[in-house]
Amino acid sequence: MDPLTLETPGKINLYLKVEGRRADGWHDLLTLFYPIPGLSDRITLRFGGEGVRIVCDVPGVPLDRGNLAVKAAEAYYAAAGAEVPGMEIRIEKHLPVAGGMGGGSSDAGAVLRLLQSAEGKLTPARLARTALEIGSDVPFFLHPVPSIGRGRGEILTPVDLSADLPLLLVPGSFPVSAGWAFRHWRPDGNDTGPEYLIASLRAHDLAAAGALLRNDLEPAALQKFPMLSMIADHLRRTGGAPLMSGSGPTMFALYPDPASHGRACRELADLFAEYDIPLLPV
Ligand code: ATP
Repeated sequence: MDPLTLETPGKINLYLKVEGRRADGWHDLLTLFYPIPGLSDRITLRFGGEGVRIVCDVPGVPLDRGNLAVKAAEAYYAAAGAEVPGMEIRIEKHLPVAGGMGGGSSDAGAVLRLLQSAEGKLTPARLARTALEIGSDVPFFLHPVPSIGRGRGEILTPVDLSADLPLLLVPGSFPVSAGWAFRHWRPDGNDTGPEYLIASLRAHDLAAAGALLRNDLEPAALQKFPMLSMIADHLRRTGGAPLMSGSGPTMFALYPDPASHGRACRELADLFAEYDIPLLPV
């Protein structure tokens, strides 16, 4: 069989409210996922050989069963009641590792999608349940379109939003553990729900939308990592509304219009390059 290939995007959370800790230890969330196709991992799956093998040369990415892509392959066949065939999963990694852009979850979602397209062994509901067994963000990556996420993030409602919001992205260049971030969450000052944010985005009132961004995992991270506050200040100074994505440390900013986005991009490119801080217009 020919190798199977998929580009799988990163995500940011334009809104992330932690509703509270549940008895089972997970947190209930109300979030707005937004995919970033301009920053993607590329997954290539080849059947054959012994066991499930990962090929990836980026430090920090596990090459064993700790890799969410391996977990996805094993969970897929376990759900189907079938033996796991030998395969190689090559991960061309561009998403930051432990960066709050859902990198491992995106890889896992891609493996589930590739296996389902090749094997078709699971119903959509079983596939979604299998995704959640792997991680809270994995169900989103089965169908990565802008979506509201509830529960752990698996109760998904697609939202019709422009795919080309004027965003600047500062992908995390050091890891932050999602466990740490969730142990230190506190409510953000802004307490309006995502519906106002969505309405502003749909009305192309991006200045209003910028004021409605929210992430309850951000305050603790900004306090612990002053570098993130510095990045946020530069994004704000150039007219953007900055926010950390997910459990961080990836930062992004929404600009009110394409002209200010372009100006900020030019102004910050040199400054950030000097400090070796990645900057990505999307
Ligand atoms: P999220 O936004 O879903 O919280 P993240 O982007 O912050 O996730 P990941 O890149 O998924 O974080 O990495 C978290 C940890 O998971 C890493 O430190 C790494 O040890 C492990 N990991 C397992 N599989 C992968 C993978 N395929 N790619 C990257 N990291 C992986």
